[in-house]
Amino acid sequence: MNKVKPVGPIPAGYDTLHEELAIGGAMASALVRQHGSPLFVYSKQLLTRRMADLRAAMPEKLNIHYAMKANPFGPVLKHMVSLADGIDIASAGELLMALASGAKPEHISFAGPGKRDEELLRAIEAGVTINIESPTECDRALLIGAGAGQNPKLAIRVNPTFDLKGSGMKMGGGAKPFGMDVELVASTVRKIIEAGAHWRGFHIFAGSQALKADAIIETQTQTIALAAQLADDIGAAPEHVNLGGGFGIPYFPGDEAVDIARVGDALKAQLGDLPIILQDTQFAIELGRYLVGEAGVYLTQIVDRKQSCGETFLVTDGGLHHQLAASGNFGTVVRRNYPAAIATKYNFEPTETVSIVGCLCTPLDRLSDNAAMPKANVGDIVAIFCAGAYGATASPANFLGQGPAKEILID
Ligand SMILES: *Cc1c(COP(=O)(O)O)cnc(C)c1O
Repeated sequence: MNKVKPVGPIPAGYDTLHEELAIGGAMASALVRQHGSPLFVYSKQLLTRRMADLRAAMPEKLNIHYAMKANPFGPVLKHMVSLADGIDIASAGELLMALASGAKPEHISFAGPGKRDEELLRAIEAGVTINIESPTECDRALLIGAGAGQNPKLAIRVNPTFDLKGSGMKMGGGAKPFGMDVELVASTVRKIIEAGAHWRGFHIFAGSQALKADAIIETQTQTIALAAQLADDIGAAPEHVNLGGGFGIPYFPGDEAVDIARVGDALKAQLGDLPIILQDTQFAIELGRYLVGEAGVYLTQIVDRKQSCGETFLVTDGGLHHQLAASGNFGTVVRRNYPAAIATKYNFEPTETVSIVGCLCTPLDRLSDNAAMPKANVGDIVAIFCAGAYGATASPANFLGQGPAKEILID
């Protein structure tokens, strides 16, 4: 028998009802009976609570943006538009979704390397802020704006000289396809101002999935200092500075939640003592997974239970085509177990060691490796937590002709 491997911590806010996992008061089996399996369930209540807790911890004047690539499901996006101060998009497709969900153009900003001319045109016509990623992209945006008789709103995405320590995905520091190097910023901003376009400020995003408050605080300090230095070089104050985000969520055994009270207190102190040139600047953070990740669960039904060479496998009707990240194939170096449970035996004690796999014919399709679980049979339902971000749309749904899972937002 293989050694038991722990599963990640189950997020707060989930209940037990008649021995089953309950989400927003609804039993997992009832949800699957009504909507089918596999199923992504997102909780409106948990989304609302998360934003309220974050706002309570952060400085009052700080804007909180939602990076919609984390979860663009229509009803979730609409709810996030109602909760957030801004929506960060990364394509013209996301622009259409954000507008359709009620986001106001003045609250939308568009980042991402490789924006096509057509996307720049649509963004300029819609009047959203474009985070410019290179001097050549700036030239294209100015040309397209002039051609369309529009005045583009342009911020500079800066490739910071530092990275977010301990972050799962580094987005700054050294050679990067994102943003422009510090020494290119001042001349590009001058070009924007000389062209008579609207210079909005800076976007400085240093990394993702950081859990350590001290690392986030250090990065925010460096980001504010960099914005001040760039503004001094340019000789003009930015109206807006997007400080990035990077707040992570606990996925794996031993992970601990970000201490947002500490981060908030440090940011309050910093925004209360800004360099002169940033006195009137509006600051924002942009978060994806922190806002939505823990508010979603992936439910998948067991279709077979089998033994092989002394090990037990629970084979489900879901898999990596919906939950690539939980299988360990989305930017993780070492495969570890996401938080998981047998939803239909939620408050039972573990009695056996099992591997929970998907239905795809590849050894990569593993949702939980040698986990301790209560005994589950065909028809029981597996819950994989932390499925609210980078799940449905960040997984190859068409692999092996399987198709997407159903998604629902419940109260
Ligand atoms: C992906 C992305 C985010 C969101 O990252 P999370 O880790 O989900 O918080 C924010 N800003 C930018 C520029 C991004 O590319």
